[in-house]
Amino acid sequence: MTTPDGFGRGTGIAGAARPPAGAGYPGGPLPGGVPVPEALAHLAGGPRYWLPPQPDRTVPAAPAAPPAAPPGGFDVEAVRRDFPQLHREVNGRPLVWLDNGATTLKPRQVVEAVAEHCATGTSNVHRGAHTLAKQATQVYEEGREEAARLLGTQDAGEIVFVRGTTEAVNLVAQSWGRANLGVGDEILVSAAEHHSNLVPWQLIAKERRARIRPIPLLPDGQLDQDAYRDLLGSRTKLVALTHASNVLGTVPPVAEMTALAHRYGARVLVDGAQAVSHFPVDVTALDADFYAFSGHKIFAPTGIGVLFGKRELLEAMPPWQGGGNMIDSVSFEETSYAPVPHRLEAGTGHIAGVAGLRAALRYLAGLDRPAATGYEEQLTAYALGALATVPGLRLVGDAPGKIGVLTFLLAGTDPMAVAGALDQQGIAVRAGHHCAQPALAAFGLRSAVRASLALYNTVQDVDALVAALQGIQAASAG
Ligand code: PMP
Repeated sequence: MTTPDGFGRGTGIAGAARPPAGAGYPGGPLPGGVPVPEALAHLAGGPRYWLPPQPDRTVPAAPAAPPAAPPGGFDVEAVRRDFPQLHREVNGRPLVWLDNGATTLKPRQVVEAVAEHCATGTSNVHRGAHTLAKQATQVYEEGREEAARLLGTQDAGEIVFVRGTTEAVNLVAQSWGRANLGVGDEILVSAAEHHSNLVPWQLIAKERRARIRPIPLLPDGQLDQDAYRDLLGSRTKLVALTHASNVLGTVPPVAEMTALAHRYGARVLVDGAQAVSHFPVDVTALDADFYAFSGHKIFAPTGIGVLFGKRELLEAMPPWQGGGNMIDSVSFEETSYAPVPHRLEAGTGHIAGVAGLRAALRYLAGLDRPAATGYEEQLTAYALGALATVPGLRLVGDAPGKIGVLTFLLAGTDPMAVAGALDQQGIAVRAGHHCAQPALAAFGLRSAVRASLALYNTVQDVDALVAALQGIQAASAG
């Protein structure tokens, strides 16, 4: 079945029929007698999908217990002392940073590493037989080794430096995709993907006359595994899958989905942008073919990111950009290329960025990771309970095991206005489509507010958000 958005079968909430024309949504009743949430009334033109009856999250509920002293000694206050930006004010109020899904703050160790490279350690890498070139090269290659450790591969040659997740996916689409996709081949893309794990596939699919097929969502934001199994077939060449959704918080069963894809000979690219800072990742255990993340979402600077690829895949991939650093020898007659990963890294890399990434990953490795993850899980549970006490708040996405990405609507308010009002109180959240329009569309939405947690957030941050939302709600109702 082709839907008006051109995606075909199953882009929306699985099992949910579309409303009959003229159902009057927004402003009228939903099929099945569900009243249209007031919070959606501002949506010009109405949503493209509707939700089956949802659990009523507007009923005040007792918040979950605050995180108990975590085992293994995760000391959130000590961690907070390392992040200078947490101690500034915005609009005359102490900053409450709940925009970690957009980018994370940097510990002073990262700031110092970048400053040191720029102030006294500046040199290019991989060339020049002088001391500073050797030192910069060492920092650069140690950054690669840290990334390999973070992702659970022994082989640092499987780590390609890129600008970020977006560039990583484009690299795979342009290099692997151009070499491996043909007419009628299928790329399965989950409906929860960030645009950066969809649009690069659309571009190459158009060029290769391949086809994108969406893996639909269930009402709580999980990926529909039955539909996924149905979609897989001999034409499936690649599955593009988030490891944690930046809008729903869903953590799909990536290992199981990858194993299924491999049965059909398909490759799997996992977008780890929202995953790596929240829980330990092991690409070997996942058996992911490609795995991408951005440094700036794991406490490192912007402009540096990582693509992991299985060595045999990277070695078979043609260069996607040409230039310095990626060659073995060059002549007008014939050019040969350097081994991976350098073959896929044309030009001077972001050396200061890698210095920052190395510092960020060492910082993280120095923490008790399981304790940090446990703390974040408890804080997320607390936040979900606390948000449920805000009258008129509708949570978008409540899959079990979700990360602390809390996307919501507040009845009778516009998401952008809510974010603006929170900002006045020093609380930073994001509002808008979150670069995941198909995911929001599956919930009948174009825009929502998102508060997103990191390991340095606290119960006090959550309480400040909830109190501010209660105030905004009371003001809009009165
Ligand atoms: N994927 C996900 C899940 C994301 O959250 C983001 C950033 N919001 C990206 C990809 C893109 O990352 P970048 O802009 O750093 O390339």
